Amino acid sequence: MAHGTPLQQAVFAANEFSGRWSGTMCLSEPQAGSSLSDVATRAVPDGADHADDPLGPRYRLRGNKMWISAGDHELTENIVHLVLAKIPDANGKLPAGVKGISLFIVPKFLVTPQGETTGTRNDVALAGLNHKLGWRGTTNTLLNFGEGQYPVNGQAGAVGYLVGQPGRGLQCMFHMMNEARIGIGMAATMLGMAGYEAALDYAKNRPQGRPLGASGKDAAAPQVRIIEHADVKRMLLAQKAYCEGALALELYCARLVDEQHTAAPDAADEARLLLEVLTPIAKSWPSEWCLEANSLAIQVHGGYGYTRDFPVEQYWRDNRLNMIHEGTHGVQAMDLLGRKVLMEEGRGLKLLAARMLATAQAADALAAGLGADQATALRQQAAALRDAVNQVGEATQATWASGNPAQALANAVPYLQAFGHTVLAWVWLDVALVVLHQDATVSIASNQGKLRATAYFYHYELPKIGAWLQVVKTADLTCAQMGEDAF
Ligand SMILES: Cc1cc2nc3c(=O)[nH]c(=O)nc-3n(C[C@H](O)[C@H](O)[C@H](O)COP(=O)(O)OP(=O)(O)OC[C@H]3O[C@@H](n4cnc5c(N)ncnc54)[C@H](O)[C@@H]3O)c2cc1C
Repeated sequence: MAHGTPLQQAVFAANEFSGRWSGTMCLSEPQAGSSLSDVATRAVPDGADHADDPLGPRYRLRGNKMWISAGDHELTENIVHLVLAKIPDANGKLPAGVKGISLFIVPKFLVTPQGETTGTRNDVALAGLNHKLGWRGTTNTLLNFGEGQYPVNGQAGAVGYLVGQPGRGLQCMFHMMNEARIGIGMAATMLGMAGYEAALDYAKNRPQGRPLGASGKDAAAPQVRIIEHADVKRMLLAQKAYCEGALALELYCARLVDEQHTAAPDAADEARLLLEVLTPIAKSWPSEWCLEANSLAIQVHGGYGYTRDFPVEQYWRDNRLNMIHEGTHGVQAMDLLGRKVLMEEGRGLKLLAARMLATAQAADALAAGLGADQATALRQQAAALRDAVNQVGEATQATWASGNPAQALANAVPYLQAFGHTVLAWVWLDVALVVLHQDATVSIASNQGKLRATAYFYHYELPKIGAWLQVVKTADLTCAQMGEDAF
């Protein structure tokens, strides 16, 4: 809420932090999801004295907001909606594009300048509940603003207070949303982790099948636990590599958020730039791959995983949301390839590449002092990371060579996937370096696990970027040029 007036900041933050009030983010509308420029909620000044309200310039809002999480409930005394709306021009026309969007604070119950809830209902009405695949612990709502169900001072129109400047609403919202996107990545990671722990426990306890020896199976031998089968180990190691790698990435991004505010000016600026480039990855990578981890957790449970008797089906259902809200996967991909890698003449991308190459160099340096097997593995991983960084750089240049955004962005999602896998390869190599610095003989089992997860990532995952980047580099238009009637 750093963009509100000092009074708004004090009143709303104090109540929200005390747990008396809760908040929502009201961006989406039935006709405006990914395309927020089509927001149609309108806000008009509320009376001649509207500019003099101590809570900020006062407006009346009318419109419908869709998908609002926790939009109505009875868990808190008041609900504060942060609402995107447009202020019409003198002819009553709404300004086009996202630059016409403003941000408003709209409480469910009106408040005094001292921050007390008055008990007077604002004109915000619950119009319906969405019945969701997952996330059933929160309501998800369709809210009608200003339709006259709860008139204020005898008039229809929800009372809202402008935050910041008119037309700068999306910028204010993104002040919060960039960190929220890292939060989504963390939530996806935690769901992946929970599934991994459940699958690991199940695999250690479920007897099924017999080991394959050189002469086949011995039907008279007792059954083994499924964790003894190579394919189950593969599924468990994939989950570990996805989830622990994602956790390391999210913690790194959280540190960058801190450094942005606390570091010396140059380092703070680097943290800002790295965050610009990494935020779409921090949001999308765990959303895709920790969801895949949840799918593998179901697979490890066999038929039992497909029932409600075990928790893994719920983790998958809950995690499925994360590729959709706070900017879909497709939107994150276009943000990365269409904006973030280009901004400030590619400074963020260059800085990130330099950090990755420095880790590869540190791996080569450490390898010199290690035993032959560890040294070879580390050198191969360093070389593979360098190659991946080069491939991403080449693909970025090749895709923008045409200068045609429609063509360049046609394969933005495969680019996002390859970029994300390269970032995670970097993260895992960094984790391996920390392990080897602390425990050069790798005598501790959890450290062996980290090095195996690194090896898994380099052997099974990183090679995938070749296929993803191929269609980017060659500007493959197989999908883009498919005629609608050919589907
Ligand atoms: C459980 C849940 C909770 C939510 N909570 C909130 C909330 O609290 N507040 C809030 O404001 N919103 C919330 N949302 C809404 C969410 O942010 C939107 O669903 C999301 O932004 C996508 O919008 P949409 O559903 O209209 O899909 P659409 O925008 O119609 O997208 C449909 C598909 O088309 C693709 N697509 C759209 N445009 C393009 C394009 N230009 N190029 C390429 N592909 C494109 C998308 O990537 C997607 O795959 C929530 C949604 C859900 C499901």
